[in-house]
Amino acid sequence: MTREKMRIVMLGCGGFIGSHLLDRLLAENECEIHGWDLADYKIKEHLAHPKFHMHRSTISSPAALQEIEQEIEKSDIVINLAAICNPAEYNTRPLDVIHSNLFDIYPLIELCAKHKRWLMSFSTSEVYGRTVASYLPNNNYEDPNLFELRENETPLIMGPISNQRWTYACAKQMTERLIYAHHMESQLPFTVIRPLNFFGPKMDYIPGRDGEGVPRVLACFMTALLDNKPMYLVDGGEARRTIVSIHDAIDALLLMLKKPHQAQNQVFNIGNRENEVTMAELADLMRQTYARITGDMNYKEHPILTISSQDFYGKGYEDCDRRMPDLSQAQTLLGWTPKIPLTDALFETMDFYHQNYA
Ligand code: NAD
Ligand code: UDP
Repeated sequence: MTREKMRIVMLGCGGFIGSHLLDRLLAENECEIHGWDLADYKIKEHLAHPKFHMHRSTISSPAALQEIEQEIEKSDIVINLAAICNPAEYNTRPLDVIHSNLFDIYPLIELCAKHKRWLMSFSTSEVYGRTVASYLPNNNYEDPNLFELRENETPLIMGPISNQRWTYACAKQMTERLIYAHHMESQLPFTVIRPLNFFGPKMDYIPGRDGEGVPRVLACFMTALLDNKPMYLVDGGEARRTIVSIHDAIDALLLMLKKPHQAQNQVFNIGNRENEVTMAELADLMRQTYARITGDMNYKEHPILTISSQDFYGKGYEDCDRRMPDLSQAQTLLGWTPKIPLTDALFETMDFYHQNYA
């Protein structure tokens, strides 16, 4: 299959990852895309593209499913990005989160299985939950076997059901298992992607400007800088994340489309091992970066405060301690290695927010 002839169904095409994937696919002008989303403000520039057809609707109504099925029959691949995927909502809208990440996706899995269409499904690195190391005395991070996240080996460890943080991870895990079961029982071709903190322009929203609520950490820290309010470190900001530039991530996705034989029937971590930071380090790096962008050195001392997770997210939050991906699957099968350092990814992203929201 070449991308020249590829017809794509893209669900959740109007979000952060969808917008960047559309930028690249439509610039290459090699495929025909039918996209579904409730929102289109991040992809306005593509709405008139002759090879992009936007369906501004939910994917979960019976009418939409009928329309999607008609398109699936004509297409080569279904890329599913649609989800509620904001940690502040996992414990505050648990039923919506479970529906969005499991029950709304199940009919689509069945349609792909029925028509034997390649389903590329966006899961999350959160399916790994907490690391084994985090349960040992002194968070034993000496031995990579106790914290490195390996697609086909690492156990998936989540907290008790009263900690509703895990609704998202658990729904995504069940979706992965349903996809895998369909693959084993009816040869559904699939690719599961577990993103590890993609960063880039157009991620989330800035509360009070183009959205309301508590977005992911990048937008939370950015809002604090834009609005001259303190940045808050949840539970002291010790949690670690590895951050990958959206451009590196999109490179990986394009390689998957180019190499279906290598990409199909696999689960891929997509992240960047070199870009690991604690949230306290991220806050400091962001204020230093914003001082460079604005030329205002006062930002270097922008206030950073600590807050309990209970006060920040409410009851039922529990954090993933560390996410260090094993990337050998993506390296070996796709020939993909992320290249963009955290400092560059942050500069580009924060400059975008500065230009658009300051
Ligand atoms: P996003 O919130 O920016 O995009 C998701 C899009 O799905 C939104 O535009 C939303 O309107 C749409 N959507 C939700 N429910 C829908 C419905 N019922 N019908 C139609 N559209 C619907 O999120 P994103 O960062 O682009 O993430 C995309 C996927 O990747 C999600 O599945 C998410 O769980 C996964 N993921 C992303 C990251 C990351 O770092 N960005 C990390 C882990 C997992
Ligand atoms: N976090 C923080 N301050 C904020 C927002 C988030 O310290 O203003 C922390 C959060 O507790 C977590 C990390 O930042 O440890 C990443 O949170 P994010 O919402 O980006 O999503 P996650 O990586 O947990 O999926």
